[in-house]
Amino acid sequence: MLASYSCGTWFRATDEGEPLLDASTGEEVARISSTGLDLAAMTTYAREVGGPALRALTFHERAAALKAMAKMLGEHKDDFYALSARTGATQRDSMVDIDGGIGTVFSIASKGTRELPNDVVVLDGQPERLGREGSFLGQHVYTSRPGVAVQINAFNFPVWGMLEKLAPAFLAGLPTIVKPASQTAYVTEAVVRRIVDSGLLPEGTLQLLCGSPAGLIDELGAQDSVAFTGSAATGAHLRQHPSVLHGGVQLGVEADSLNCSILGTDVGLDDPEFELFVKGVVTEMTVKAGQKCTAIRRVIVPAAMADDVVAAVSARLAKVTVGHPTSEGVRMGALASLAQRDEVRKAVQALRASSEIVFGNPDVVDVVNADAETGAFMSPVLLKAHPGASEPHDIEPFGPVATVITYDSLDDAIRLAARGQGSLAGSIVTHDPSVARTLALGLAPWHGRLLVLDRTSAAESTGHGSPLPVLVHGGPGRAGGGEELGGVRAVLHHMQRSAIQGSPDMLSAISGQWITGSSRTETDVHPFRKSLAELAVGDTISSATRTVTLDDIDHFAEFTGDTFYAHTDEAAAQQNPLFGGIVAHGYLVVSLAAGLFVDPDPGPVLANFGVDRLRFLTPVKAGDSIQVTLTVKQITPRTNADYGEVRWDATVVNGSGDPVATYDVLTLVAKQWPQEPS
Ligand code: NDP
Repeated sequence: MLASYSCGTWFRATDEGEPLLDASTGEEVARISSTGLDLAAMTTYAREVGGPALRALTFHERAAALKAMAKMLGEHKDDFYALSARTGATQRDSMVDIDGGIGTVFSIASKGTRELPNDVVVLDGQPERLGREGSFLGQHVYTSRPGVAVQINAFNFPVWGMLEKLAPAFLAGLPTIVKPASQTAYVTEAVVRRIVDSGLLPEGTLQLLCGSPAGLIDELGAQDSVAFTGSAATGAHLRQHPSVLHGGVQLGVEADSLNCSILGTDVGLDDPEFELFVKGVVTEMTVKAGQKCTAIRRVIVPAAMADDVVAAVSARLAKVTVGHPTSEGVRMGALASLAQRDEVRKAVQALRASSEIVFGNPDVVDVVNADAETGAFMSPVLLKAHPGASEPHDIEPFGPVATVITYDSLDDAIRLAARGQGSLAGSIVTHDPSVARTLALGLAPWHGRLLVLDRTSAAESTGHGSPLPVLVHGGPGRAGGGEELGGVRAVLHHMQRSAIQGSPDMLSAISGQWITGSSRTETDVHPFRKSLAELAVGDTISSATRTVTLDDIDHFAEFTGDTFYAHTDEAAAQQNPLFGGIVAHGYLVVSLAAGLFVDPDPGPVLANFGVDRLRFLTPVKAGDSIQVTLTVKQITPRTNADYGEVRWDATVVNGSGDPVATYDVLTLVAKQWPQEPS
């Protein structure tokens, strides 16, 4: 019997449960049941134990825990591969699920470290000035919800499905309860067991529910969320749940998706794009035996190319060996279960109302090292739609099945793609930039992700069907309307965005970052003499003033070669409507400002690694004086390094106090100074 991990202990139901069968042999792998599991206690435990422990960590600490977890899981991959094969998955299929899942955690953790502050609150955009004097501002912030994230996953990706949702929720500060699809839950259980045993995630941040989740959603409230992947029917059922309708539970759905690949009008039989198109279709039909939410179901081609496409796809499909997933030479394993195969056969039957089968037989298949009846094997099936067919746009055959549909013009292709009513991923295969633009702009509103494939991108392309951790995964309309992944976006989806209004000092205190207009701290010690441990947000240096001379401007022009007329030719500069005479180079102003604010001696400031948001606001003319104020805006210690990042607000003003230039200076500062000898 599979165990659930609940409230810090492993729970095993004592009833008979339901058998879970090996997809290829029909042998029992495990039994599953959640009878007797206290779901209310699980949600309370997540909120009261997991959540507080997680939110006590900064984003960087959470990212470090995720990274360590991904590393640990990588060391146990062989165990997961062995179990994954029992779901019907070939080595390549398992790689997508297991290595894909682990890679996703690494990627999200790394984004968290690089793009989120080492804090527990995220600022969204710049402060908005709400009053004349600047004493009343607004700032958008993201904070963690004191709730629980429930994941309800599909059977096709027992590892990736869990990890791609867990990583962003964990970073966002939300504990997770994972409910894997029963059919393949034994793989998820093995992974969760490793995570729990490792102790790398704080207790209560990850719980596992194996078996029926009946009653779970009733326990959820306004700070909780459900991320569902599965059938449109279950998705619709969840949307109607009173906790969602009236209780404020946030529901994300990823359900049916009739993804398309479109061959551009420019592509001929001898173009490399033709081969790329055909290869893409065959790959998507056969990887995971077509049981992928992003798989290509609709092959949309110019009418004149249809026969060539059918012939080329069929020729490739004929070479696909179906059989036991661990056998030598097998390209496609079994579907997840006999019931799933029945569903796909039914879908093919329904598609035949308006399409004819041009390759394969849904009821007959040659298999290697397995029994075609006890195992859930099926031949790839290619259909060709009759003109005006509606079924290919409505029925999702969740297996190795695709339908060729013809179009007459690019507008027609866009109209056909839109008949899917919203998809996760679409491909456009063309080498013509104008075809690419027309199709991409027409298709984008209907898609979460679009791949534009041609000979230039092919070598590095990650393919049509691979969701990428740094790009949005999800799609509008029928695909569920959800949005997962997409780098830090995925984290922010789990957080609450609020606008906070108040004085600059209040907003600085709340956000942990110095905000324009708030107090500065100026002491006798130059901030460049302070280590990261000694620096504080608001520490400031106000420089001496310096007069910019015509000699300075001439010298800079000659020295750098930037002899743009506005800096060198008085008569021409007079004609410039913005300057009306020679002005100093903006970069000269910034360079002089650096000369004014640095403390030159060796010290804790190790490097200047860039400048953000540089704006030149008022021209500086010969004879004008400038003065700079440098203020610590944000301090971000780096994990596993002897230094951290300091972002400084730099404001340069002229003799009248008008701002001349504003920017953020980015430096690396030693955590301790003097540094301990290593
Ligand atoms: P289901 O919708 O039946 O199951 C998905 C998940 O929801 C499983 O974890 C399941 O648990 C759970 N579940 C089922 N009923 C409820 C309920 N009433 N309340 C809460 N959770 C529930 O889909 P399947 O995984 O069985 O797949 C069926 C079809 O869904 C496929 O043939 C395919 O067409 C489509 N599908 C689409 C995907 C996509 O992203 N486009 C991905 C996967 C599937 P349990 O397994 O224990 O029943």
